Amino acid sequence: MGGRNGDTGRGGGLATAAERQHGTGRAEERTSLRTAETPAAPEDEVPSGALTPFQAVNFQFDRAARALGLPEHLQVALKTPFREVMVEIPLVHDDGRITTYHGYRVQHNSARGPMKGGLRYHPEVDLDEARALASLMTWKSAVVDIPYGGAKGGIDLDPGDLTAAQLERVTRTFTERIHQLIGPNQDIPAPDVNTNPQVMAWIVDEYSKFHGFTPAVVTGKPLEVGGSPGRHSATGRGIAAITNHAAVSAGLELRGARVAIQGFGNVGSWSARFLRDLGMKVVAVSDVEGGVLLREGLDVDRLVSLVAEQGTVVGYEGAEQITNDELIALEVDVLVPAALGGVLHERNARDVRTGLIIEGANAPTTPAADEILRERGVTVVPDILANAGGVTVSYFEWVQNLQQFRWTAERVDDELQRIMKDAYGNVTRMAAEHGVTLRTAAFMVAIQRVAAAVELRGV
Ligand code: NAD
Repeated sequence: MGGRNGDTGRGGGLATAAERQHGTGRAEERTSLRTAETPAAPEDEVPSGALTPFQAVNFQFDRAARALGLPEHLQVALKTPFREVMVEIPLVHDDGRITTYHGYRVQHNSARGPMKGGLRYHPEVDLDEARALASLMTWKSAVVDIPYGGAKGGIDLDPGDLTAAQLERVTRTFTERIHQLIGPNQDIPAPDVNTNPQVMAWIVDEYSKFHGFTPAVVTGKPLEVGGSPGRHSATGRGIAAITNHAAVSAGLELRGARVAIQGFGNVGSWSARFLRDLGMKVVAVSDVEGGVLLREGLDVDRLVSLVAEQGTVVGYEGAEQITNDELIALEVDVLVPAALGGVLHERNARDVRTGLIIEGANAPTTPAADEILRERGVTVVPDILANAGGVTVSYFEWVQNLQQFRWTAERVDDELQRIMKDAYGNVTRMAAEHGVTLRTAAFMVAIQRVAAAVELRGV
């Protein structure tokens, strides 16, 4: 992975956007789409070599589809994205120079409801990654049984290069160019890496110029423009709920148990707070600048203040400075990757020294790493279950917008806890019944639901 993301790249399993672009570019994007257009091979063989993110998701899909005996025509119908859009986003600087960014939105499947998924601002955003994340959103919404399909998108920019005013202009241009394709009954974006409630507020404002005041067009908004109590912290809250259930299954006492968290943005920092509230010791955290380790436990509130003040956890007084690679190899009871995709790969999966991985990030584990971790007896609670708290409370936000009725924070939390518990139960039952990993089981639960909707509605 290039630039400032050097130490956790997708290497050893997933091709980076830069590698993909240096290759055959669009031709490669076409090749990766073929994994959607082809049914699962009869044999389950973990592919060696670099996979694109979309190929990796489809590998997981194929494995589950094979276990379900899903007919081939349905496999192809379910994997293929419904619509893919790329728009040009020019940004004119004060001196007249123009920087041209690319904005993407991939809408994967709408059989169970409007499509839903985040917007990511990151230099590595590209069509293949958006496809992969959109597909994961279809399966995630179905695992927690909320009435949404999947979508994802973003812009290939580094927000560190832009002022707030420029970020607003770029966001408005992107919205203006895709406004006909999104909407409360069609596709509902939300925050993801490097986007936040402020970005969502700009989208509401721009979209509303064309369609009238429509807060339900995005979720993850500030409370003042139709956000929901509990949305900002929802993914972390869901991570803590799932960690709790997984600890019970594993016979792990959480009080005093050690957790390391990679990424200290929305997901990582809220996970840290709620895991601490469960009595866990947060021994290490990291971000794009590096990590910090304190074996007796870091003070999570101090970390949050530090990030607010200086933008990174690095510099926490009294802690040992570590790299992201070192964090992944720490001996801990629970490891939570909560930054980018592909960070657990073929080359470091054998270094992992934890019994339980809770995937806060989307697609943090490559198929090859998954296989190694399975052989080594490490339990991996997959992204589409573990981090589904965010989309679940996004759904609550959308419901509140449509009904123009605000829920209390207590109601949001109660409903979230119930949904996460049911989903964890359904996935673990499926895993036990079929003797498969939690990831394959989660895909199986999801695929069954989406397949039923596709068949009932007709394509
Ligand atoms: P964020 O932008 O708030 O935070 C990202 C964090 O990752 C930051 O601390 C950043 O410094 C760190 N990071 C970035 N590049 C890194 C690198 N190369 N090495 C180490 N750390 C790095 O983003 P977020 O919303 O917290 O999202 C994190 C992950 O969780 C993403 O995979 C996202 O798709 C997933 N996710 C987010 C939500 C949500 O509600 N925000 C929901 C489900 C899944």
